[in-house]
Amino acid sequence: MTEKAMTALPPGSTIGILGGGQLGRMLAMAAARLGLKSHIYAPDANSPAFDVAAAHTIGAYEDEVRLAAFAEAIGVATYEFENIPVPTVEFLSKRVPVRPGAKALACAQDRINEKMLARQLGAMTAEFAPIDSLEALIKALDGGFAVPAVLKTRRFGYDGKGQAKILKRSDAEAAWAAMRDRPSILESFVNFRAEVSIVAARASDGTFKAFDVTENEHRDHILHRSVAPARLAADVAAEAIAAAQKIAESLDYIGVFAIEFFVVPENGRDRLYVNEMAPRVHNSGHWTMDGALTSQFEQHIRAVAGWPLGSTQLKAPGAEMINLIGDDILAWQKIAAEPGAFLHHYGKKVARPGRKMGHVNRLLTKTPR
Ligand code: AMP
Repeated sequence: MTEKAMTALPPGSTIGILGGGQLGRMLAMAAARLGLKSHIYAPDANSPAFDVAAAHTIGAYEDEVRLAAFAEAIGVATYEFENIPVPTVEFLSKRVPVRPGAKALACAQDRINEKMLARQLGAMTAEFAPIDSLEALIKALDGGFAVPAVLKTRRFGYDGKGQAKILKRSDAEAAWAAMRDRPSILESFVNFRAEVSIVAARASDGTFKAFDVTENEHRDHILHRSVAPARLAADVAAEAIAAAQKIAESLDYIGVFAIEFFVVPENGRDRLYVNEMAPRVHNSGHWTMDGALTSQFEQHIRAVAGWPLGSTQLKAPGAEMINLIGDDILAWQKIAAEPGAFLHHYGKKVARPGRKMGHVNRLLTKTPR
């Protein structure tokens, strides 16, 4: 279906969300606040988003009978997970508007496409090379591709999964084995002083709004803490926002997305390297639920429903988010008792190590320095 000049979906309408994890759950809660219903489509019967949605379908992303019935029941579709197969989105797009569209999804699913787009638009990235075999990897290293480097699968990687470091040529074999024959990308190792992200939205009329740049700290490859605003010079922060806007415009993007950057000091000034894009609400934007006038979840719902975007202004000099991973969630009672701590529990039954179980937001009384 072609994008109509978008009239706002009125309260009482239903938004279809592909994916039933915590992001879908928080999207459905934000939709409900605006009087919109959510219908979640996910393969797993234990999806945390089902608890808070008006309707759900348990179905495989390839099940065209269930997908067609889902499309009949909704006014617009979106997704909370970037590994939704592109054909699923194309199938739905023939029946109902899907925002963001298949073009953005296809770009963000492949690390090479992402980096090529960033470069075309004038942004910097790590040096990279596509790698499809051990021979190609050895050839790249022998041909002067500098180590240390990181080998990553082009698709379906997250939280450091599907990645291997290469410190010397003899690491090549083990690194390629870790990719399990999947198409991969070799990236030069970036000596960053910080990692930051932009979470921003583009509306159906092209309006663009970004939240404050966020600084992110990882532990064991998983996001541990996000703080906004990031400690960046104003012109560098503005550059990150401008790069995000260019990327969104080039993809005709509608909805919230995140771009992760490495901050690299060069000649006395910070330079930004695009690392990756997420075509969805993002963990590094969770602080906005309590720290900004509009949360990233409400902003996404507003964009996909054709509503005006909300204000992205911080409510305090700063805000932080700490992820509750695995057993961290056992502290829920202590956190709930802390004045000024905003606890978000995803309602997942089993706290496996490395699993995101919830997060806690706090407002900061001073701007981070
Ligand atoms: P990614 O899945 O690409 O976001 O990578 C996960 C994490 O690994 C990043 O947040 C960085 O901390 C680290 N990392 C990934 N790629 C590189 C790189 N080219 N240079 C340095 N660190 C990296």
